[in-house]
Amino acid sequence: MRNTNEMEIRFDGKSANEGFARVAVASFMTQLNPTVEEVADVKTAVSEAVTNAIIHGYENEVHKVSIRCRIEENVFTVEVSDKGKGIEDIEEAMRPMYTTKPEQDRSGMGFAFMEAFMDSVEVESEPGKGTKVRMKKTIGKGREIWTTQSL
Ligand code: ATP
Ligand code: MG
Repeated sequence: MRNTNEMEIRFDGKSANEGFARVAVASFMTQLNPTVEEVADVKTAVSEAVTNAIIHGYENEVHKVSIRCRIEENVFTVEVSDKGKGIEDIEEAMRPMYTTKPEQDRSGMGFAFMEAFMDSVEVESEPGKGTKVRMKKTIGKGREIWTTQSL
């Protein structure tokens, strides 16, 4: 594999760190020369996953959230993990408008946004052990035709 690169960050699951996490991921991904829109999509998806780790995984107790990013050629992968309470039924949790916290004005759209803004979203979770959300996005799709023609 020619172009691979990885980074990991681990931080306290506090809402004050959501902006940091988003910007750290965005900053790492700039080496793929993404468009402004591609960066915005990844930032939104990361925000949703980090917010979920904090409010659902840890229910606002402060524990560590980890983010691992990997670049393989033009595919960007980001994993957001917590060691919180986990998800009983992943399929149900990922359904648009499903939320376990309607009383906190949650709309149940976090996973739907992640799926809309990324190419794929996979969730691994075990009750009592934690949750890992793995998202992938191919960066520079709009440039592919140009690249092929210029070869
Ligand atoms: P919104 O994201 O619109 O504010 P929400 O967070 O409830 O609302 P989703 O992000 O789609 O909606 O998540 C759906 C449900 O999946 C949550 O209500 C919660 O029950 C569960 N969930 C999501 N992430 C986690 C997590 N990291 N740990 C435990 N449960 C989670
Ligand atoms: Mg959410």
